[in-house]
Order: sequence, then C-alpha cells, then structure tokens
Amino acid sequence: MAGKAEGLVSQDDGELWHRRLGHLHHGALKILQQITTGLLQGTLAQSDQCKGSTLGKFVKATFHEKDSRTMMILERIHIDMCGPFSVASTAKHRYYVIFVDDFSRKCWIFLMQKKGETYSKFCQFKALVKKESGNKVKALRSDNGGEYISDKFKDFCKAEGIRRELIAPHNPQQNGVAEQKNRTIMVVARMMLHDQGLPLHLWAEACNTTVYVQNRCPHRILGMSTTEEAYSGKKPDLSHLRIFGANVYMHVTKDARKKLEPTTKVGIFVQYTNTPHNYRVYFPDSSNDVPKDTFLVVGCYLQRKTSNLVVVSGQA
Ligand SMILES: [Zn+2]
Repeated sequence: MAGKAEGLVSQDDGELWHRRLGHLHHGALKILQQITTGLLQGTLAQSDQCKGSTLGKFVKATFHEKDSRTMMILERIHIDMCGPFSVASTAKHRYYVIFVDDFSRKCWIFLMQKKGETYSKFCQFKALVKKESGNKVKALRSDNGGEYISDKFKDFCKAEGIRRELIAPHNPQQNGVAEQKNRTIMVVARMMLHDQGLPLHLWAEACNTTVYVQNRCPHRILGMSTTEEAYSGKKPDLSHLRIFGANVYMHVTKDARKKLEPTTKVGIFVQYTNTPHNYRVYFPDSSNDVPKDTFLVVGCYLQRKTSNLVVVSGQA
C-alpha cells in the first residue's frame, strides 16, 4: 500500500499513537520515535479530532517546582495521595498514593481502600525498588498530611535511615513534583475514560494505565530520554501499547461454550500487566457498554479470572 512507504504514515496512525500514548502531544510523540523501539517510524500526522483530548481538557500547570534535580535514582522520593473518589473503583478502591523518583521522574501508583494504608504501601514500594535496582530510598518528601506523619511512619523512616522532608503548610510549590504528577494523571485518566465513553468506576484502571504509559514517555527535565530509561537504563519497547478502552476479541474454545453460543467474547482493554503482551480486560455486564470503535483484534486465551476482570495474552 502506497501510504505505508517510507516517510508516509496515515492520519489514522498519528491519531492511533496519540491515543495509545495517553493523548500525548505531537511534539513528544516525535521525540519518542527517536528514543524508544516499537513505535511506528515516519511522519505521524498531528491529531486534531480527538474526542478524549477535547472532553478531558488539558489544563497547563499553574506552577513548576524549580528544575533542581537529584544526582541519582531514589535519592529523593516525592509522595502524594489522591481521593476519596466519589465512585468506588472496580475493586472497591477510593484512594491512590503515588511515589515519584526525583531523578528519573518515574512514578509508581498504589490503590487503597483507606488513607491509612499509605504507610504499608510505602513499605511495599520501598521493598520493590530495592529489589529492582539494588538502591535504597534516601529521602521522602511529603506534605504534613496525617497519613505521612504517623508515629509508625516516622519510626520506620528513622530505622531505615530515610530522611524526611516535610513541606511547610500552605506551600504546595515545594511538593510540586508529586502535585503536578497527580494533576496530570487525573487529566489523562479523564481523557481516556471520556474518549471511549467508559464508566467512571474504571478510574483506577485509567490511572494505572496513565502511569504505565507516562513512564515510557519523555519528561521535560530529561531531554532525550524516557523516565523508564533514566531509572533503569533500559530503552522501552512500545510495540505492545494499545488504546485504553479498545475492544478485545477473545476466542471461546469449543469446550467452554454451548452449541450456538458465539465463538467470540468481546471485552475492553483496561490495563497493562507486568508481562508486555498480557492485558487486563474488562467484561461489562451489559454489552451496551462496549465501545463502538475497534482498534485491536487479539487472538488470545483466558489466563486468570477475578470477578469480571481477566488477564489475557496475545499478539495483535
Ligand atoms: Zn487525545
């Protein structure tokens, strides 16, 4: 097909990658082509018709923390919490907490049912990054919220040699990194949900997907690098990225269906997993909720089922 010749990529491809990458702006998309693998090469047309970007309304940051940056990963972690959400998530969560590494700007998100779980999520996070990188968290920056300054939390940091940096009240600029990240997550998650007309209880999956995708995107303080590469030294491969809310067609094997029942089940892609080509898929109770637009056809098989969320595996 002529449109696929070198240097020529269709308008649809620009739109596709804009949405796969969480409504990423065109300039960043061009940078990503140079610093990752798996992304379509050639000139991607600028997307100007995206429903999600219009409905989600991207609001520019009102303030930026001064671009001072630590010298190595985990030297300073910014923490911030978000919630309560008025709608409980699919798994009944009402809050999330994020940890942002100052050096790489990589972000980790943990869902919570109560604010009080912040301490245990920090312990989990600390153990996870130690295992991943071999490095220890050196300092933790937060506001004075009760969930960060409990005796248990303070004692743990003291015992682990983690310096606490508490932000003066009414001075959110000092926590700019985490606050800004939280704001971006909300904006992009809203775009992704509205783009596909998905129910609001999928907010947790939308937030998770936003963090996953943004960890594979450039950041203004990093220059020609993604946050993932700044953290792990590994160049991300984006070939498995799909549009949040895209339809997933799952083959139902002969043994699993009755005569005359459909051979295909339609679900919605809502989240990535730790294995690149495994996707978390949501099966709404009513087929009316299934988005009309279809961007993904996956030959996949059922792996694990928890309520109406399943993990499937397959190549597009
Ligand atoms: Zn968009």
